[in-house]
Amino acid sequence: MPYHYGPLDIGVRVEVRNEVMEEFTKINWDPKFHIRTHKYDDFVRTFCTNPSGFVITENYGKFVSVNGHSMKNKFSNNTNFAFLIRLHLTEPVENTTLYGESICRLATTIGGGKAILQRLGDLKKGRRSTWERIDKSYVEPTNKDVTPGDLSMALPARILEDIVEGLDMLAKVIPGVNEESTLLYGPEVKFKAVRLDVNKNMEAKGISNLFAVGDGAGVSGGIVTAGVTGLIAAREIIHKEGKKCDI
Ligand SMILES: Cc1cc2nc3c(=O)[nH]c(=O)nc-3n(C[C@H](O)[C@H](O)[C@H](O)COP(=O)(O)OP(=O)(O)OC[C@H]3O[C@@H](n4cnc5c(N)ncnc54)[C@H](O)[C@@H]3O)c2cc1C
Repeated sequence: MPYHYGPLDIGVRVEVRNEVMEEFTKINWDPKFHIRTHKYDDFVRTFCTNPSGFVITENYGKFVSVNGHSMKNKFSNNTNFAFLIRLHLTEPVENTTLYGESICRLATTIGGGKAILQRLGDLKKGRRSTWERIDKSYVEPTNKDVTPGDLSMALPARILEDIVEGLDMLAKVIPGVNEESTLLYGPEVKFKAVRLDVNKNMEAKGISNLFAVGDGAGVSGGIVTAGVTGLIAAREIIHKEGKKCDI
């Protein structure tokens, strides 16, 4: 079945005090901000916001990455969210998974097997973070199983510049999000399965009656879109059977 590689979403997990974000998270638990950076014309987005949440480490075996969650009965003073740059690759390499894994492996090497934590202020000043510097910050990290370090030793310049520029742009809407004390954990990565070629009804191109939906088929990248692709396919299957469809 024909397929192509989807984009890679890669960047960092940002952690700030709850006060910085609560004007938004009180209205919308997971507010989405879409940014287009000036220098590279890249798409940068916030994803998976966790009010009063915790940053966690994900272990992929060959490398580590970060993620975040909120809990029902345990609360922190911080809000975290993923800040991700979307990368498409064309020629000579299309395999975004391979590229993402290479970046994560380098980051894990320089982090001594752990994710890297850096204050935004240290990143902007071109110096690594240390526990001593982080202790002086007013944002206390919720994940301490990390290595204070220098993200510029781990992430490609383009990704790093997108993060810094994107946070400055985001600060026009969320003042304080680009403060020196803002914590950046990296890398955070969202791999996508290869995207199967389907038509607008989610039916495989060239293979009738075979439908591909959800993240595994590479046609969605979140809970809502995965559900929607399922509904679209279900509607077409019902139509094909000549039955009435209320979806
Ligand atoms: C830690 C984490 C945090 C996330 N946070 C967010 C978020 O904040 N917002 C958001 O929108 N999305 C988030 N996602 C992504 C979201 O969970 C997925 O996009 C969504 O679940 C995809 O739905 P799906 O139905 O395509 O696949 P899945 O939910 O993965 O369902 C696939 C199902 O198929 C089953 N299965 C697999 N193989 C077989 C087999 N051979 N036979 C039978 N059954 C099989 C699996 O057990 C599974 O139940 C997160 C994902 C993770 C891992």
